[in-house]
Amino acid sequence: TKLTMNLGERSYDIILKNGALENLYQFARLDRRVAVVTDAGVPAEYAQRVADQCRDAKIITVPQGEASKSMKILESVLRQMLEFNMGRGDLVIAVGGGVVGDLAGFAASIYMRGIDFINCPTTTLSMIDSSIGGKTAVDLGETKNIVGSFWQPKLVIVDPSTLATLPRRQYINGLAESVKASLLADPELFAIFEKGDIDEQIGEIIYRSLRFKKSIVEQDETERGMRKALNFGHTIGHGIEAVKGVRGRRTVGLYHGECVALGMLPMIESKALQKRVRAVYRRLGLPLRTAYNKDKVYAEMLHDKKAQGGQITVIKVPGLGCWRAETIPVEGLRTLLGMED
Ligand code: NAD
Ligand code: ZN
Repeated sequence: TKLTMNLGERSYDIILKNGALENLYQFARLDRRVAVVTDAGVPAEYAQRVADQCRDAKIITVPQGEASKSMKILESVLRQMLEFNMGRGDLVIAVGGGVVGDLAGFAASIYMRGIDFINCPTTTLSMIDSSIGGKTAVDLGETKNIVGSFWQPKLVIVDPSTLATLPRRQYINGLAESVKASLLADPELFAIFEKGDIDEQIGEIIYRSLRFKKSIVEQDETERGMRKALNFGHTIGHGIEAVKGVRGRRTVGLYHGECVALGMLPMIESKALQKRVRAVYRRLGLPLRTAYNKDKVYAEMLHDKKAQGGQITVIKVPGLGCWRAETIPVEGLRTLLGMED
C-alpha cells in the first residue's frame, strides 16, 4: 500500500508493505553516499539490509534509548557524516524507532543546511506517529524535543515484518497512539481494538493510523491549528511521563504511549465511552491506573512549554470519532486529574 503525503514541493510517499525494507532500492536513489543511522537495540540486520542496497554506505550506530537524543550524540553523528565526506546531494536513512528517526532527521536537516532524509521506522510508535509529519528534535537535559526542526523525509518505508523482534511492551506502547487516532476520528479502527485480532490486523491498524496522521499533517504542516488534535492525552500524559516514580530502590517509568493512554481517559467526556476505552486498555495490556502522585503530575504540567500565561489548550473527546479544543485555566487540570481543590 502506498500513501502520499501531499505537501506541495515537500510531498513524499509512505510505503507500507511487509518486506519493503529489502526493496528500498525500488523507491529511492541509492547511488550516492548514504549514512544509515540506527541504534544498538535495533537488530543490526535491518540497517545492514538497507546498507547492502547502497553503492557507498556507512552505518552509524548510536547507543540505545532516549539519551541518544542529545547534542553530544548529534555532534558525533554529524562528525561521522563529515568524515564520510558527505555532500549536499547525499542521503541519511534512519532505521529504528522514534529516537533514531528524530536524531537522524535533525542531523539531516542541519548538515550543510539540509540534505535528503529517508525514514524506515521499526517500532509501532514510529510507524504510526513519529516517522511522518516532519518533526525532528533532540533533548536538552530533561527538556524533551526542545531543539529541532521541521524537516520532511523524501520517503517513509514502513515494513511491519520488522515488528517481529520488537518487545511486546514496546509494541503495545505504540498502539496507544493508534487508539488515540481511533478515538479522535476513526470508529472502525476503534472497533478493531474492541473486537479484532490485533496481531492479525496490524497492517490495517497501521494503515488507518497513518491515514489519520496524514490528513492532520496535510491540513497543518507546522502545527498552528488542526495538528493540536494530536495532543489528545498528551497534556496529562507528559505530566505523568515527567514524574519518575520510585518504588523501593527501583525507578519505575511508564513508556510514552502508556502515559498518553492514561492521559486520554479524563479527556473523554462520555462515561459510556470511557468504559469501552478501559476495556480496550485491559485487552491490549495498557495501564488503567498508576500510583502516580497527582501533585507532582500537576506541578510538571505547570512547567509544560504549552502552558504559558496561565491558560492551556486541551483536546476533549465528547464521543467516539469527534474532538474539540478547549482553552482552560491551568487550575482546571486539577479537576480533570480528579484532585481536590
Ligand atoms: P525508541 O526509538 O527508543 O525504540 C524503542 C526500543 O526498541 C529501543 O530500545 C530500540 O532499540 C528498540 N527497537 C526498535 N525497533 C526494534 C525492532 N524492530 N526490534 C527490536 N527492538 C527494536 O522508542 P519509540 O517509542 O520508537 O520512539 C520514542 C521517541 O519518539 C521519543 O524520543 C519521542 O520523543 C519521539 N517521538 C517523536 C515524534 C515526532 O513527531 N517526531 C512523535 C512521537 C514520538
Ligand atoms: Zn505521543
